[in-house]
Amino acid sequence: MSGEDSGCYCLILKCKCERAIRVGSFGTWSFPAGVYVYTGSAQAGLEARLARHERRLKKSHWHIDYLRRFCNVAGIATFKGSNREECRIAGRVAQRGERYPANFGASDCRCGGHLVRFDSVSSAMAAVRAAGKMMLLQCAGTQEDQQ
Ligand SMILES: [Zn+2]
Repeated sequence: MSGEDSGCYCLILKCKCERAIRVGSFGTWSFPAGVYVYTGSAQAGLEARLARHERRLKKSHWHIDYLRRFCNVAGIATFKGSNREECRIAGRVAQRGERYPANFGASDCRCGGHLVRFDSVSSAMAAVRAAGKMMLLQCAGTQEDQQ
């Protein structure tokens, strides 16, 4: 399946403080301060999915929702077309960062995990850019309130 509004995305989240976060049935993890790149996909409704990620408060459904609540969105990159590439994109991003926690967001696949940690937004952005052809919808410097 691929259509106008399907594809993959990288959500870049900046977490200023270390904190323990319960990620549903995945368990409670300590997330060090840093920048986290989450790679996901939408078979349809990619734009709606991204708009959803922009909202801080909502019922948590995906693993990333639990983390998003405590972070600012520093950027979003989209890879339109196939929604089947998310594991490969996550793997490429992980070449420059550290997958943490292992298997995060990978309940439905068998890859190492869809969340990769970096020390800075710039290194995270560089890794996302390197991950492939992409189009930045929004980039860096969002000024959201803390928690
Ligand atoms: Zn995967």
